[in-house]
This record gives sequence, C-alpha cells and structure tokens, in this order.
Amino acid sequence: MTSPSISEVLISEVGPRDGLQSVKATMPTADKRRWLDALVASGLREIEVCSFVPPHLMPQMADASEVVHHALSHAGVAVLALVPNLKGAEAALTAGVHKLTLPVSVSRAHSLANVRQTPDDMVAVLRRVAALRDERFPGVGIEAGLSTAFGCTLQGVVPEDEVIRLAVACAEAGANEVGLSDTTGMANPAQTRRLFQRLRAELGDKAGSAHMHNTRGLGLANCLAAYDVGVRVFDGSQGGLGGCPHAPGASGNVVTEDLVFMFESMGVHTGVNLEKLLAARAPLQAGLPGEPLYGMVPEAGLPLGWTQPGAAHV
Ligand code: ZN
Repeated sequence: MTSPSISEVLISEVGPRDGLQSVKATMPTADKRRWLDALVASGLREIEVCSFVPPHLMPQMADASEVVHHALSHAGVAVLALVPNLKGAEAALTAGVHKLTLPVSVSRAHSLANVRQTPDDMVAVLRRVAALRDERFPGVGIEAGLSTAFGCTLQGVVPEDEVIRLAVACAEAGANEVGLSDTTGMANPAQTRRLFQRLRAELGDKAGSAHMHNTRGLGLANCLAAYDVGVRVFDGSQGGLGGCPHAPGASGNVVTEDLVFMFESMGVHTGVNLEKLLAARAPLQAGLPGEPLYGMVPEAGLPLGWTQPGAAHV
C-alpha cells in the first residue's frame, strides 16, 4: 500500500466490523449499505466492512459477502475484512476484498479464549492464508493485527519481546503489514511510542496500523504517541462503536470523529471531511436504534470558525 506522507495519515474505519460485531443487535443489510455510503462520502479511503465468521457464532456478520459486494461498488475505497481462519479467508478472497486482517493475539490466554488457538498456531494459520493468497488471489494484502499487544485482561502484562517476536513471525509468514492493537485499553503513550518504535525498527515498511482503544481515556493520546514515532495508519470506529467497553460512559474503540478532529486541527491531512463524517452518524443510528454512540467532538460540536485544510479535497 502507499504510505501517506509526513503531513498525511490514513484513517481506517473499522466500525462496520469491530463495531457491529460487538453490539447485540444485528444491523439490517440495507442500513449497513446506507451507513457505508455515508462513510465513503465523508472521504474515508479504507474501511473494514465485515468479518467472515460462522453465522451461528456471529449472526451480525451473516451478510458479509453482500456487504463486501456493495462496498466494492465504491471506486477508490480499500475494502477490508477480518478473517480468523483459512475458511473465512477463502470466503473473503472469493468475495473480492482488497485486504484481509487476521487477528493474532499475543496473549496466550486471550488467544485460547478467543480463537481456541495459541499465538503460534495463528501464525501457522496466517502462513496458510498467505499461501492461498499467493496461489489464487495475488495482489490482495494481508495485515496481521496483533491484539492484546499492550496488556491483557486475562493474562495481565504482555511482554514486549513477545509482541516483537510474533510481529516478526507474522511478517515472515507472509503478512504485508503487522499492526498493534490495544484490545483491552491498557496502553499508555510511553509504551505506545516504545513498541511502535521497536516494531518499525524490526519490520521497516511492514510496520502497520495503530488500533487503539479509549477504555481508560488514553486512546487519542496513544494515537498521537504513535504518530510521533512515524505511524501513519490509524484505526477508528464511528461513534466509538464496539471494542468491548468495560467502563460505563467510555467507548472501546477510538472514536473516528475525534481522531479526525485531532489530526485535522493539527494540520495533518486525513482526507476525511469532518462535517460529512458527523452526518454519517445518522444512518448508523437509524440502523441501530437506541445503541449508545460516543464522541467528544460530536457532543461538543465543531469549534467556531472551524476550517478544515483537507476539506477542499473531498
Ligand atoms: Zn477495537
């Protein structure tokens, strides 16, 4: 993928996947289409639209192929799907996604609880997925997302050496990028800076995105820390949807609206029109009536005299 320049970041919207699979209600497919259209209209260029998982385990994602099909109708948008295994990868690749995200949990306890595999088992899965990609779907990207990279609610501390060891293993197994996820909202800015620095030193341009959570209020601070050490791709979820919030009133995932506000107000171009992004909350809410949406910027509104350097481009 093309790396954004120093004054530019890529915001990867994960709400349609990370968000929708975390809520109890299933958003109807027609509402998913309307929400995706609104997200695209805001200028987002990368969207993780669904996960390919067995429908009996996750009925919210039963329409994954349909959703991918619709997302692909938008030219210029990278369409991503999360896949936990080879079967899911084959379905996603057949549906035509541009990039797969494969979660590899660094915490052994979390990995066993989540996918009933050890972290190294998941690296082996990744290797098989990469072989399938190479054979039948060349050109499709694979990102390994190292979850619980900053700490785990089951295991507690996750050793940084283990994060880096697995990151290298994922790159060797065929991942084009390896990102780090603060799945449990335990990261702090110093740790974020240190780990991404190490990741970049080990992997070079295969060092991937920052997927930070706001569970304890440090989501944006951690994104900024990652930006300061060269990370240029950031995951966000509209309305902070999903990401398993543990604390009442706190969102799980970093709120895309707040993330875009932070970067744009700093003069860092996101390509996302914030007004249009705020407007995309309407179809999201319509598809999930009563579901709480988060965000400081959506609540406070845009400041008086707000002008967005990037707005002219979208
Ligand atoms: Zn998340």
